Amino acid sequence: MKNDKYRKGRGGYSRMLQLSCSHCGKELFRYQKDGPGILKRLYLDRIVNSPRVAAQLTCPNCTETLGIKIIYKKENRPAYRLFTGAITKKIVKQTKNKKKRHEVIVPPRKD
Ligand SMILES: [Zn+2]
Repeated sequence: MKNDKYRKGRGGYSRMLQLSCSHCGKELFRYQKDGPGILKRLYLDRIVNSPRVAAQLTCPNCTETLGIKIIYKKENRPAYRLFTGAITKKIVKQTKNKKKRHEVIVPPRKD
């Protein structure tokens, strides 16, 4: 996963998503989603094994148009703006480099 200023700007929290075409179910690519919130844009630098960049994001299987290329002005960052309901996502579980979170349990005080 990438850890840069964009990720830090979104709280340093990311998930890896597997994106699929919601029209035909074809798996498209993996995407690193930074921060909370719904998926409205796909930043090109977050697409894993990206297909060639085009003016439109099209499903290679059913050729449905899923989004259009924009420049996200706030960050001057190229992205695909997704059409509503064009893409389905599921969270990919990360198996390598997984850090376990240790919980410190403080025993109750006896006064
Ligand atoms: Zn499709």
